[in-house]
Amino acid sequence: MILEYNQKLSKTLSQQVVDWFFDRNYTAYQTAVDQKTVFVIPDVIQSLPELPLNAMVSRCILTHPEYALVSRKYQSEDHEIRIGDLVIGGSQEAVKIIGPCSVESRLQIFESAAIVASNGGHILRGGVFKPRTSPYSFQGLGIEGLKLLKEAADTYQLKTATEVMNESDVSVVAEYCDILQIGTRNMQNFGLLEAVGKTQKPVILKRGFSATIQEWLNAAEYIAKQGNRNIILMERGIRTFEKATRNTLDLSVIPLLKQLTYLPVCFDPSHGTGIRELVGPMTLAGLSAGADGVMIEMHPHPDEALSDGMQSLTPTQWKQLNQHIDQLQRVLNNIYDDSKG
Ligand code: PEP
Ligand code: MN
Repeated sequence: MILEYNQKLSKTLSQQVVDWFFDRNYTAYQTAVDQKTVFVIPDVIQSLPELPLNAMVSRCILTHPEYALVSRKYQSEDHEIRIGDLVIGGSQEAVKIIGPCSVESRLQIFESAAIVASNGGHILRGGVFKPRTSPYSFQGLGIEGLKLLKEAADTYQLKTATEVMNESDVSVVAEYCDILQIGTRNMQNFGLLEAVGKTQKPVILKRGFSATIQEWLNAAEYIAKQGNRNIILMERGIRTFEKATRNTLDLSVIPLLKQLTYLPVCFDPSHGTGIRELVGPMTLAGLSAGADGVMIEMHPHPDEALSDGMQSLTPTQWKQLNQHIDQLQRVLNNIYDDSKG
């Protein structure tokens, strides 16, 4: 059941609705408040003889709601995620999440942070728990790497993002890092989704490499259902018959997701293509398609990288691409301003 009220309910009235359903053994989830308060009550699909605050109900839809908590249907306004002074989503400026695939050493992550900070980056990325195909490949520095990532980012006033692979690591990653990343291989690790949902930390939810949009939004719903709406959807390429690129970067999802959800949408052209030379053009394409930000792998010495060197930009390439992004941004701002009339 979707229950819509004809106005924004006060906290007390909203709680009254939640309690009313609780007393009848149902859970009511409030969607993010727009002008009108909406509740989703997933277990009710038949009509009830009475409803809470009946006189104020404007709509009652008997349906099994799919990803209602993250759907644009019940909240029209873009969701903005704030990390200190940084805003992701809603605003025109795209967020730039830049850094090496993995944190490899103190020197490497400090060098990376310096380049990211002096060339327009907002968030320093770097994996410390690495989901490698082979168990014999570099697995990441773990907690030691996490501390180095934070130290380097703090030194250069950057925010941080890193992947968390296990439920048991969520609290320590949340303690040291600004954004928890769920990798492509874990998009449907429901226990992990619930664990990050119980924190209020921003979450990057990468698209599973063979996940449909419906499955992806349902994965986001798992996080939202636990009370955390600070979710960034990140397209990172899907597996297709094509072998010339590492993955097929599906940029059409960006404008499509913008219709389906109010959550910020970002993309990762590094994993999306696997080829350094393609990262620049695809970055400009994705931002033109309306993305709220981009995640790019950049390494101070990509040919010596312990993971994903082939797709990592050199510092010079990133510096140049950052200038192109800023030029493009000005054009896009004009287009958006014009279209607003
Ligand atoms: C990464 O960002 O380094 C990573 C492993 O990404 P994905 O989960 O998209 O492969
Ligand atoms: Mn990588």
